Amino acid sequence: MKCKQCTTEFIVTANQQKFYDRFDVPTPTLCPYCSKVRQLAWRNERFFYLRKCDMCQVDMVSCFSAEVTHPVYCNNCWWSDKFDPTDYGLEYDFSRPFFEQFKELLDKTPVGNLFMATSENSEYKSKLWKLDWQHNLFLHKTNTLTIGVEYQQEQGESVYNGLFSSIFPLRKAHTTGFYLQDQIRVASQFFATVGVRIDKHSQFGIATTFRIAQAYFIEHTGTKFKATYGTGFKAPSLFQLYDSFYGYEDLEPEKSIGWDLGIEQQIIKGKILIAATYFSNQYENLIKWSGQGLTNIDNAESKGTELIIRAQIKPL
Ligand SMILES: [Zn+2]
Ligand SMILES: [Zn+2]
Repeated sequence: MKCKQCTTEFIVTANQQKFYDRFDVPTPTLCPYCSKVRQLAWRNERFFYLRKCDMCQVDMVSCFSAEVTHPVYCNNCWWSDKFDPTDYGLEYDFSRPFFEQFKELLDKTPVGNLFMATSENSEYKSKLWKLDWQHNLFLHKTNTLTIGVEYQQEQGESVYNGLFSSIFPLRKAHTTGFYLQDQIRVASQFFATVGVRIDKHSQFGIATTFRIAQAYFIEHTGTKFKATYGTGFKAPSLFQLYDSFYGYEDLEPEKSIGWDLGIEQQIIKGKILIAATYFSNQYENLIKWSGQGLTNIDNAESKGTELIIRAQIKPL
């Protein structure tokens, strides 16, 4: 078959033809795409019109123009008890075509002005303050000690007035962190970093984490060996804790412990770099979506190998 609108070839299978014959309807003359366009043409979710509510006469925005025959009500009237939708019911007449009667029903039944309920006067406010102080002490040409304090406060609130109203009252959380890090560098051969961090979270208390990293570089072969080992702590965000739909107030912070081992090889005076790293991380209380809400997964693990090949390309 050839679509009479877009002239695309389309197939009507024997089974489809049997179906049309059974209901005594003509074989389609439009391809499936064009017939879908026609099926949906009477819907409007893209254009807005300024018009009056047919009940209280207030000015409103609607996806139904003033020309439609059926009444259109503002959000307040639509959700009120000022009309009874069952008043518009019609007795079905089997001697008349269905669509004729369906049109009569649509032409007199009131509808709401928009498919969405009001979302006006809804707002989400959030603030994040961060204060960071860091001091470097150059103890020796091979040794740098870093001391730092970090303070962070976040707050959030939201109000949504609509079909699925939700109110998220003002919530705050603050974290104070102290960190100490020592960097050792012997010539350009050996590098080591040891760091300790203590965080005090307003809700989750004190967490201590650390990180050890070292690298050894063999200059004449261009080879570098690297290794890190460390622990992590991540408190749930305000959204994860308090959002009325997704949040869960009893979430625990995520804790992790992980290490990696890597080797880097420079080729042709560093123009090409090949690197391979193996990593392994173990998580406790990892925060994940469970289908109904956010939850802590008792234990999780991630491990893998990362391969990098990097080349410097210069035009001749
Ligand atoms: Zn077509
Ligand atoms: Zn109204």
